[in-house]
Amino acid sequence: MSHDTTAWRKPHWLTGNDGLVRVGPGTGGSEEHTCPSHAAAKARPGLWPARRLRLPKPELETFTLGPVMDAVDRVEFHGETSDQALAVLRSRTPALHPGHLTYAEHALRTYVRACADDKAQRLRPVRPYWVAQRENGKVWEMYAWWRRYESAGGRLREYRRLRHGEAKDSEPGEIAIAVYVAVHGRQAAWPEKWARTFRPYGPTVRPERVRVVEVGLADGRPRVQFDGTAEEAEAYYAEHGHAYVTRVVAGGRPVPGSSCVDCKQFTGCEAVPRRPGILGLSSRVAPLRKVSVSDLRYHAACPAQGFLRALHLPESDEYGSAARLGQAVHGWIEKLHRRPGRPPCAAGDMPPEGENWTEGRWRVSDEDAATGRDMLLHHVDACPFRDAALIQRVEPEALRVVHDTAAQAVVIAKPDLLYQEDDSWVWRELKTTRRRRHRQADLLETYPQIALAVTLLAQGALGGEPDGSRVEVEILRPDGSDLHMIDPTDPGRQRKALSVLQRYAGPWREDETWDARPGPHCQFCPVSRWCPSAAPDGAVTGEGET
Ligand code: SF4
Ligand code: SF4
Ligand SMILES: [Zn+2]
Repeated sequence: MSHDTTAWRKPHWLTGNDGLVRVGPGTGGSEEHTCPSHAAAKARPGLWPARRLRLPKPELETFTLGPVMDAVDRVEFHGETSDQALAVLRSRTPALHPGHLTYAEHALRTYVRACADDKAQRLRPVRPYWVAQRENGKVWEMYAWWRRYESAGGRLREYRRLRHGEAKDSEPGEIAIAVYVAVHGRQAAWPEKWARTFRPYGPTVRPERVRVVEVGLADGRPRVQFDGTAEEAEAYYAEHGHAYVTRVVAGGRPVPGSSCVDCKQFTGCEAVPRRPGILGLSSRVAPLRKVSVSDLRYHAACPAQGFLRALHLPESDEYGSAARLGQAVHGWIEKLHRRPGRPPCAAGDMPPEGENWTEGRWRVSDEDAATGRDMLLHHVDACPFRDAALIQRVEPEALRVVHDTAAQAVVIAKPDLLYQEDDSWVWRELKTTRRRRHRQADLLETYPQIALAVTLLAQGALGGEPDGSRVEVEILRPDGSDLHMIDPTDPGRQRKALSVLQRYAGPWREDETWDARPGPHCQFCPVSRWCPSAAPDGAVTGEGET
């Protein structure tokens, strides 16, 4: 289980001791945009930031599964009924948002029912963690936070991983850690301090069989990830686990993204640009939060919706046909813009006439697909690669992160396309609409992400030269396209952009309660299932644009 750790060097913004290396299935993170440097630091629990952020904690619980795990612990290890465990959740600190509480109740009951259905196996829940430990100059530990079960006598050990919605598949590296720990782990309580080692006790009990199962809390359905003998588990670790652990521990270049907000390197990490005032707010002491323009829009529509979406509660498909078509058009163009050599998009690259070219989640009716084809054909005249001689670098669906040190916000920006021309960044947003051309309201008002684009470019937050940078807004309609250019160095545009951002970000930043604001929009709300305040039947509003 020991691996070479030489590739990673403690950066100067971390202090403490790196003699303890601890890896669990979640250390590497399987989510999008995970940063290798984040994972390597996380795998060294004895390190902490040289400069800590002394910001208050949020008033509401932000860890979606934490309360569910607590409640299952009460049922499995303290003999409480589900009702008793839920009563505790209702009065705990930090408090749960009412929508989070609804979800936690659903999740607990679903899980308890799923375990009862599984009685034939006669597994019992195991309270201590299983920890595999070894020393070779450093102390190496592997563990898993997942739920643990075993048969009488310990012949079978089983891990159950809870998923917010439906069970999906874990990465082989994650499964490998769990099966290794199930075979070799000894019992241990959770360490008193995270920086201290686990203290395994009792004999090593080698099971004959090991299982890893995911359970989806939306429906309680299990999905087996591994089921084999101890020998098969060891072979599985050798094949998938070793490389995974080595990768996590060795780390790599920091890649800013969603994981910055809970990264212990955040205060010092040189990969994150710091720009006070990006959101137009004055300096304050408040919990650090991450935010995208979509988050701000959800909050403006209904704070509860914004909060419940950020918890990643299971969502229903809220996309109307216009939004689905917009996504399909975006996807088609993005694929074209990823082609090597960056050829300009041509009419021949667009879907053939009379064919429904949309697919999967973004499938629309034949009629809408024909409308989408018309929009795509109008992209040909607006394609940024028509005059590609000046283009040095292209990033379709780029991701940029900036720390607004005044608003205490990790701002996540996702331009549709970012390209560099003559050392300056061009930020392009693509919009689709079925409406005919009409006198547009100010684009910065209509699309707040364009206000963010203007502000980030104006402040040089993406690097490069602010002079010469621009925001391009391409609007595709069935009967034509418009290309608007915005100069981020224009003081009037800068003022407008800041005032738009401030209008969204001000109420979002102040909000600690995330109250529901029911209305007709509830019927398009993807988290209405969890919301106790959902309006029963709102009148139909528009379907929105993308
Ligand atoms: S702060 Fe962000 S970029 Fe830096 S190491 Fe952490 S996750 Fe990576
Ligand atoms: S259902 Fe309505 S009130 Fe509830 S979160 Fe969604 S939009 Fe808000
Ligand atoms: Zn193009």
